[in-house]
Amino acid sequence: MASEPAFLVDAMLGKLARWLILLGYDAAFDSQGRSDLELLELAHREGRVFLTRDAKIPDVSGLRKLVLREERFEAQLTRVAKELALRPDPGRLFSRCTYCNRALDKIPREAALPLVPPLVRSLDTDFFRCPSCERVYWRGTHTERTIKKLQRLGLYPADKKR
Ligand SMILES: [Zn+2]
Repeated sequence: MASEPAFLVDAMLGKLARWLILLGYDAAFDSQGRSDLELLELAHREGRVFLTRDAKIPDVSGLRKLVLREERFEAQLTRVAKELALRPDPGRLFSRCTYCNRALDKIPREAALPLVPPLVRSLDTDFFRCPSCERVYWRGTHTERTIKKLQRLGLYPADKKR
């Protein structure tokens, strides 16, 4: 969906960034300690909503930013969802690498099995790999826990399971 916002998240909000990525959003995260001005420039150039904890960040025309004073990431995520009227698509959940923010590739089961822990090999799941860091992802108890949490936050339909 072209209308979905993309984000640039400052280094103080790493957990929020990971949850936005989990939800399928393009949420670039500053892990390089770039300056506020560099981040503003990057967000502006790439049309990203800038999420920051820093209330002193100047307003820049044409740039959407959101200053988050909430301490807990649940409250931060709820605020972002409300301010931007996000409606996460359940079909895009877990579609990106939470370390690199890259879209995952589906890989054949045979290719994935040697790369995952023995217990995972018996799961009935598709496997995905990050084209950047090559981490392998699958659906398991961790994904169920994530979905339950998102349901409590109202960001995932209560009656639909994947
Ligand atoms: Zn990755």
